Amino acid sequence: MQQVKQSINPRIAALNPYKPGKPVEEVARELGINDIVKLASNENPRGPGDKVQLAIAEAATELSRYPDGGGFALKARLAEKIGVETNQLTLGNGSNDVLDLIARVILEPGAQAIIAEHSFVVYRLAVTCCGGDLITVPAANYGADLSAMLAAITDKTRLIFIANPNNPTGTRTPGSELLPFLQAVPEHVWVVLDEAYLEYVEEEDHLNGVSLLDRFPNLIVTRTFSKVYGLAAVRFGYGVSSAAFADLLNRARQPFNVNSLAMAASMAALEDDDYVTESVALNRAGMAQMTQGLTALGYEFIPSAGNFVAFDSAEPGDGLFQRMLHEGVIVRPIAEYGLPNHVRVSIGLASENERFLAVLAKVGAHANAQKAEPAS
Ligand SMILES: *Cc1c(COP(=O)(O)O)cnc(C)c1O
Repeated sequence: MQQVKQSINPRIAALNPYKPGKPVEEVARELGINDIVKLASNENPRGPGDKVQLAIAEAATELSRYPDGGGFALKARLAEKIGVETNQLTLGNGSNDVLDLIARVILEPGAQAIIAEHSFVVYRLAVTCCGGDLITVPAANYGADLSAMLAAITDKTRLIFIANPNNPTGTRTPGSELLPFLQAVPEHVWVVLDEAYLEYVEEEDHLNGVSLLDRFPNLIVTRTFSKVYGLAAVRFGYGVSSAAFADLLNRARQPFNVNSLAMAASMAALEDDDYVTESVALNRAGMAQMTQGLTALGYEFIPSAGNFVAFDSAEPGDGLFQRMLHEGVIVRPIAEYGLPNHVRVSIGLASENERFLAVLAKVGAHANAQKAEPAS
C-alpha cells in the first residue's frame, strides 16, 4: 500500500468524499421505512413535465448512437432563449461539469482561487483536483463578503467563485454589490457567477450574470437544469462566457459529455415556461410555509433566495439529521460547509413541508426543551 500511496496525487487522497443527499432507496433499505420524504438536495419537488417525459421517450429509440458532441440544436435554442451567441456556450453534464472544466482551463499548481466561507463544496473539489490553491474568505452574515474577497486578490489569483444565490446558505448578492465588485476585479482574474438558483430570485435589485457579459470579458456564468427545471437526474448545465473563453472550455471538454436523453429533455424543458413559472410559485408558497413554521417552533433561519433554507438546529445538525431520518424525513446537515449547528431543508410540496415541520416539532432540540421544562 505504501508504494501505491506514493503513486497517488496526495491532494486527492486528502479530499473528503462529496456527501450527496441521502437517497430515498438507501433510507428505505437501511431503516425499513417506506413513507419517506426527501428534502435534502434542493431538487424540484414536482416531477418533470409531460413534454419532457415525451421527449425522453422519443430519444430513447436512438440510444445506440453517440449524441451530437457539439450539441448543435440545444445550443441554438438556448442561445436564442437567453440572448447570446452559440459560440459563447459550453454544455456540461450538469453545471458541476462546467465548474470543473473552468478550473481545469484556468488553474495550474501554484495558482490561487478565492471562494467565500460556507460556499458550494464543488468549487473546492474542482480547484484541488487541478492543483490550484484555495483561499477561503470569511463570510459576512453567512454570505460572500465581496470587499474582503477583493482584498484577498494577489498576483497569484486567477479565479473567484461566487454562487448567487449561494448553497447551502441561500444568501444573495444584490446588483448594487455585484456591479462595483466586478468593476474592481483586475483583468487577470476570472469571476465565475454560479446561478444555479437564479430563477427563484424575485427581488428587483438582482442582476443576472448573462446581462453583464458584454461589460466584463473576465466573467463566466454557469446555470443548471437540475433545480427549477426539475431535471437533476438527467445531468445538464451550461456555461456562458466570451466566445474566446468558451473555445478554451470546449477544447478541455470530453467529446460526449452531455448525453442524448439530457439534450432531448432540456430542449423540451426550454419550451415549457409554464413549468418554471409554476415551480417558482410553488417554491414561494412553500418558503413562506417553511419559514413561518420554523419561526413558530422557535428556530432561527438564514433568509434564503433559493429553494431551500438553512436553519439553526440549536444542536449539532448531524444529531437532528439522524433523528429525522428515523422518522422518514431526509434533510441535510451542513457541518462540512462550516455550519455544524445548522441544517438545510429543501422546499418540498406543501404536504412534504408539513411533514417536515411535524417531525421537527417532535424530535428537534426545541421539542426536547419544551418537554424538559415541566419536569424541571
Ligand atoms: C445544485 C447546484 C448546482 C448544480 O449542479 P448540477 O451539476 O448542475 O446538478 C450548481 N451550483 C450550486 C451552488 C448548486 O447548489
